[in-house]
Amino acid sequence: MEEEKRVFKIGDRVDQMCITCNEERGHIVVSLSKAGRITRVGCPMCASRVTYRRGTTRRASNKLGEPYDRMRAYRKGQTLMHPTFGEGEVTAIIEPQKMDVLFADHIRRMIHAQS
Ligand SMILES: [Zn+2]
Repeated sequence: MEEEKRVFKIGDRVDQMCITCNEERGHIVVSLSKAGRITRVGCPMCASRVTYRRGTTRRASNKLGEPYDRMRAYRKGQTLMHPTFGEGEVTAIIEPQKMDVLFADHIRRMIHAQS
């Protein structure tokens, strides 16, 4: 198989099996080699950091999130569908009205519970 030529940066999303969560899920690139290869990734749900294993491909989720609604209060683990960024999963509630959402490319800080 030919290696993907995509250049990764710290904070980008890759999918990998998480041993702690016992689930294949989106991880965040936490370290790169000098050559630009991913060396370690972190799971945003359980915060474990593991060695990157190349070759895991992203699977389409079968549970489609509801459209993102900034008035709604989200909880960690909920999925949503953003009109621009696509499918996302809430990985952390930062403040009562701020949350981190993992999209297909990387994590974005979003507002919620704006009512
Ligand atoms: Zn995990």
